[in-house]
Amino acid sequence: MLAELSPALTAEVQRAAKLLASKQRICLLTGAGISAESGIPTFRDKQTGLWENYAAEDLATPDAFARDPKLVWSWYQWRRQLVADKTPNPAHDALAQWQYHTQSSDQQLTLITQNVDDLHEQAGSTVIHLHGNLWQNRCSQCNTTYENRSNRLANSKNDLIFDEDLITCQHCGGYIRPNIVWFGESLPVQAWQTAEDAASNCEVFISIGTSSLVYPAAGLAQLAKQNGAKIIEINPDPTPNTIVDITLAEKAGVIMPLLIQQITTL
Ligand code: NAD
Ligand code: ZN
Repeated sequence: MLAELSPALTAEVQRAAKLLASKQRICLLTGAGISAESGIPTFRDKQTGLWENYAAEDLATPDAFARDPKLVWSWYQWRRQLVADKTPNPAHDALAQWQYHTQSSDQQLTLITQNVDDLHEQAGSTVIHLHGNLWQNRCSQCNTTYENRSNRLANSKNDLIFDEDLITCQHCGGYIRPNIVWFGESLPVQAWQTAEDAASNCEVFISIGTSSLVYPAAGLAQLAKQNGAKIIEINPDPTPNTIVDITLAEKAGVIMPLLIQQITTL
């Protein structure tokens, strides 16, 4: 089963599996990289088509929406179109399987994601979203949740009409925006609290498919380390994360099924 990996990486996967099988409190943080093999581009990938001249970091901000709400709204409608038919890959599936397995063991997994897609849920996982949900909308002025009464807007994947026209709030007239945490905005209080608690109390922290550049999420691994946890990173490319104990430098869709298979049979 481990045959397709180099001997060195195989040994590291086995080391990680042994460590994980011997510990009880595990905290996992996933980022855009875990959804890359499902066909959802990360923010580090160059954008394509109409959006190739824009950087994602310049569109996913409150300033960008204040300056040009139509541009930002159109971009999100395009992203929704892009993500709508995407399904979980073997990394999401393996994580869901592990979570299911721990229901009958004394291991405690807390799965936290920076992703705004719902591929963890589609795979059957319970997950804490730090950065919101691509399929929800709210008013940019009064924060009221926008329900898709008009059916003109992609408020759920069943309404595959990704209209680019701006929508206004029926209470205050403000523009409707995606319910996503943009760069420079604060994280949802409850989700962040749960994430901080899980990171400070875990024995192993696993970072999967995240560039470790976007704070405060990137600080969770440091918090775990300060409290004595071992850190495992799964990412084919090196990240600035210097506190890692075990690096599994391969795609999440390759590593996760192998790792989970090892853990659950140890
Ligand atoms: P990022 O785009 O900054 O980094 C992605 C990381 O994934 C990179 O380090 C890359 O090397 C790694 N990666 C690429 N392919 C991989 C694979 N197959 N397996 C494992 N790792 C792989 O993403 P980020 O760290 O999540 O932070 C950026 C922000 O982007 C987040 O706030 C997030 O909300 C948002 N975002 C979300 C989605 C999504 O919901 N799917 C997609 C793009 C961006
Ligand atoms: Zn409003």
